[in-house]
Order: sequence, then structure tokens, then C-alpha cells
Amino acid sequence: MAIALLIGLPRGQRGPKPPASTRVEEVFGASRSLTKAPRQKGKFPMKREVLDVEGWREVVAFEDDASGLKAIVAIHNAALGPGCGGTRIRPYGSFEEALEDVKKLSRGMTYKNALGGIPFGGGKAVIIADPKTDKTPELFQAYGKAIDSLEGRYYTAEDSGVTEHDLQIVREQTPFVAGVASEGEGGNPSPFTARGVWRGIQSAARFKFGAASLEQITVAILGVGAVGMELARLLHTEGAKLIVADVDQAATAKAAEQFGAEIVAPEDCIAARADVFSPCALGGAIRSGEIERLHAAIVAGAANNQLATPEMDAALRERDILYAPDYVINAAGVISVGLEILNEWCAEEMNARIDHIGPTLRRIFERAEEEGRPTGEIADRMAMEIISRAAAA
Ligand code: NAD
Repeated sequence: MAIALLIGLPRGQRGPKPPASTRVEEVFGASRSLTKAPRQKGKFPMKREVLDVEGWREVVAFEDDASGLKAIVAIHNAALGPGCGGTRIRPYGSFEEALEDVKKLSRGMTYKNALGGIPFGGGKAVIIADPKTDKTPELFQAYGKAIDSLEGRYYTAEDSGVTEHDLQIVREQTPFVAGVASEGEGGNPSPFTARGVWRGIQSAARFKFGAASLEQITVAILGVGAVGMELARLLHTEGAKLIVADVDQAATAKAAEQFGAEIVAPEDCIAARADVFSPCALGGAIRSGEIERLHAAIVAGAANNQLATPEMDAALRERDILYAPDYVINAAGVISVGLEILNEWCAEEMNARIDHIGPTLRRIFERAEEEGRPTGEIADRMAMEIISRAAAA
């Protein structure tokens, strides 16, 4: 089903940009209340403010006194379709901090969705709350109403601090939610993400070493959690040799027992004698002083923001290390969400789309080599080209 049918508008006719109003610093300020958006006047049960943020399609702040909800939804670019990306809950120190985060995250989703091949723009939402203490059914009910008020211009899903159970409550209020498992739909994306990383490593090894398979290739995986452990299984099945590291010793012991993996300390994993370094734990796995310690000729893993700064992409290139841009190789989760929204989710389609991550990376590697530029920069440019073509069509 075309996304245009879902949102009830033909592609390219998504209405004018909503009017800008209050300055950022006025929102959530102690002495000011928000005004209700005119469209919702008399009906909408909470404060809602459209923020004027240059370069973003739409940014809306919500505040509900009854439930304590304070949220910001940011749609960065809508050329490919409605904004799509998860909701993050964090106890941000200030509204400005939350706004900066949702801007950065929603812009990242624009690139990720474009190169993931799904017809969605970049969107993301943040709820300012402590996920350990502040989550209540009322909070998610209010959040569902907030999402619903955007009338399908933004689809949400899980992100850090938000569980499938939380999203089920949101879905009682709005259909614009994905990532809530039901028959025939994706549910937990980790196995799919692992498959995408595996395909990405195959593509990188073929490009860098001319390797027809991963047999005899050594991969060092930092973090054998949901994604890393499944990745280890896939690599082991193909005959790769494994080195693993994790702060969780039970996880590394399991990988050693099941896949014959060698165990190293987390701080030594980056320097392990491997062909591929695969960061699958937290972000920032590669910091500036550490590039010199890298033994591997390829960096390809699931972790988001695995380079401490985007410029390190160029430093990797200088050392002739091939970097598979994180948001390309770990895109299976959003691909699943996209197919779910389009009502096109099935395992065959999912696997076919994930397997396409390999050729997408190959194009990035080739172009980076042709132009003598870092792979991350090339990926961003290719995403923008897809978006520009859609905007011009
Ligand atoms: P997870 O929490 O299941 O696994 C992370 C593992 O890393 C855990 O075993 C944990 O013990 C380990 N770890 C944490 N800190 C560590 C450290 N300092 N040193 C070594 N190990 C450490 O998470 P996951 O779902 O497997 O995701 C892994 C990464 O991939 C995350 O960065 C996540 O944001 C990213 N990612 C995941 C998905 C997905 O579908 N799950 C999709 C896209 C991106």
C-alpha cells in the first residue's frame, strides 16, 4: 500500500508548513503557559506549540499538566514521506538540551530512512522524563494524543527508554505507531539488525580483501548482547573466526562455548588481531586517540554513533581502514518499522530488503574510493541525492 494512501494525501501534497509561533526559550518556561494550536482549539486536551526551527519541516512541543508529559516531536525532512523514527525518554536537564537532541536524531533519521530505501522522512520524538521513575499509563496516553494530533505527519516507534508495552498504550490513542508486535509484523528488530550487519561485513570484506566468503576472516565483536550474539552466530555459521568482548562475562562465556570465540577484555577489543572490528555495544566505541590502536582493516558494527565524532571518518580513511557507516549497516530496525507501517511486512520481504544493505554499502565504498572521500561523507551525500530527487519529482 502506498504511504500516500495511509496519510490520505498524494505524495508531494502534504500541505503547507505549519505556522511558527513561540520562541524556543518561552516553551516550558516557568512563567509562561503555552497557547493551544488554533486547529485544536476547544478540543485538544494539552498545550501544543509549533516551534520555528530553521531547516526543520515541523517541530512541535507538547505539555500536559495532568499526566506530566513534556515532549518534542521533530520532523526534519518530509520529501520522501511522513517523518518516521522512534521516541526516546530521557531526563534531559533542560528544554534546550532535549530540543538539540531531537533535532540531531531526526536529521539522522532523514539519512537513515533514505538509504534504508523506505518512503519516509526523518522524524524523532523525545519525552523529558526519567524512564526509571516517571513512566505511567497516563503519560503514554497523553503522548498518544499528541502524536495523533499530527495526523500522520510523524510515525513513532521504540527508542531508548521506551518499550513495546509503552507503545501499546500509545497505540490505544493513535494508529501512527509501529514496532508493536502483532501477527505478521516485525516486533523485536535485533535479529534483523544482526543480519544487516552480517551482510554489511560480507560486503566490506569483499570490497577490501576480495573475499568471496567470511571463512577464515576474523571478526572482533565488542558487545555480545541482542545484536552482537546473533551476529556471532551468523558469522560462525559462515566459518568466520571470532573474538568477543563484553562487560557481561556470561555473554562472552556463551559466545566462547557456542561459537568457539576467543575472549578479550573490552578495552583490548579495538586492538585485537582481527580483520574486522565490529562495535555492537554503546556509541563512541572509537575515540580519537584510539584509531592508532585499531588492528582491523574494516570497521563494521551495529552501534549507533560508533565514531566519537563524525570527523574520525576521515582519520580512518587516512589509515586505510574501511568504515561501514553505522546508520547504513544498522538500518534493519527502521526498514522493519517502515514495512510495518506500509502493511508490507513479511519475513521474505524483510530479508530481501536487509540483504540490500550489502549492495548499498558497496556503492558507498566504490564512490568513496573514486572520489577519495570518507565513506560517511559519501553516505550522507547519497542520502541527500535521493531526497533531492524525490523533492524535485
Ligand atoms: P544490548 O543492550 O542487547 O547489547 C549491548 C551489549 O553491550 C551488552 O551485552 C552489554 O553488556 C555490552 N556492553 C555495554 N557496555 C559495554 C562496554 N563498555 N564494553 C563492552 N561491552 C559493553 O543492545 P543491542 O540491542 O544488542 O544493541 C547494540 C548496539 O546496536 C547499540 O548501540 C544499539 O543502539 C545499536 N542498534 C541496535 C539495534 C537493534 O535492533 N537492537 C538497531 C540499531 C542499532
